[in-house]
Amino acid sequence: RAKTGNRGEYSFFTRDMADDIRERVRLLQALRHAIERQRLFLVYQPQLSLDTGHVCGVEALLRWRGDDGQLIPPDRFIPIAEHSGLIVSIGEWVMRTACRQQVELAQQGFPQIRMAINVSVIQLRHPQFLRSLSEALSESGADPRCIELEITESVAMLEADFISRMLDQIKALGISIALDDFGTGFSSLSYLRRLNIDRLKIDRSFISSITSGGRAQRIPELVMQLGQTLGLAVIAEGVEVAEQAAALSLIGCNEAQGYLYARPMESRMLLDWLRART
Ligand code: C2E
Ligand code: MG
Ligand code: MG
Ligand code: MG
Repeated sequence: RAKTGNRGEYSFFTRDMADDIRERVRLLQALRHAIERQRLFLVYQPQLSLDTGHVCGVEALLRWRGDDGQLIPPDRFIPIAEHSGLIVSIGEWVMRTACRQQVELAQQGFPQIRMAINVSVIQLRHPQFLRSLSEALSESGADPRCIELEITESVAMLEADFISRMLDQIKALGISIALDDFGTGFSSLSYLRRLNIDRLKIDRSFISSITSGGRAQRIPELVMQLGQTLGLAVIAEGVEVAEQAAALSLIGCNEAQGYLYARPMESRMLLDWLRART
């Protein structure tokens, strides 16, 4: 009980918390509603090879269009979906939709493009996760070699044995795995070596400071060395300006994603964008 000598402060504090809870409940109800009425959709952001300029992948990102037509950002509703368990069914829908989109891309002449799908730890912990994943693959006919799951580094650090066994089983399906937001989660090197992963995704915060001239500038370079040592590919997220891309090329990072190249786009726009480039 947060008690202060000042009654005014005390009631302000609790009213604040009550507001917060009410807001979460409202959002959760609205989210349930949005799922029923199919107001969730995916957008896709290209991932490019810095050497060739070719598109090597796209990341599927969830969007929610509210009743007023405004987009509600994932950072606001995903925590609520995770807390309530709704993320399990949302995540299944994301996997099915993204797998179908991979097939669509292949049919439209882009069979090499990788589809990266974000997965939350709540999904991974769910006993049906592997089954949902393999069903998404088989129902869609997606090429598992073109499917990649993105798991945040901080999540991969939890429950080490469980996660590492889980990743082995995911890999057995032929799917690849990237550690998202890498550099923010304090992975131990020995644990990292044990994890069956393919790619490190350098967190955006390190890309924005890569041309700062400060000490933070060196972090992407360290990630590159780590990737080389462990035999992992490295991609940079959040590349916004050409100077950042140049700095990445200099340290040998040859894959990048960010507003400099393209914003996340709806499926039809993505196909137009891809065709216009080739
Ligand atoms: P993330 O997986 O790290 O995704 C990258 C985020 O950076 C995306 O934000 C993307 O739109 C944004 N971004 C890309 N390039 C740039 C850039 O150049 N500058 C800036 N400022 N931002 C850039 P978004 O779409 O808002 O997603 C936020 C987070 O929500 C994601 O971070 C991911 O953790 C989560 N998320 C999104 N979709 C899903 C999903 O389907 N399932 C789950 N579990 N999480 C998701
Ligand atoms: Mg991601
Ligand atoms: Mg990320
Ligand atoms: Mg991120």
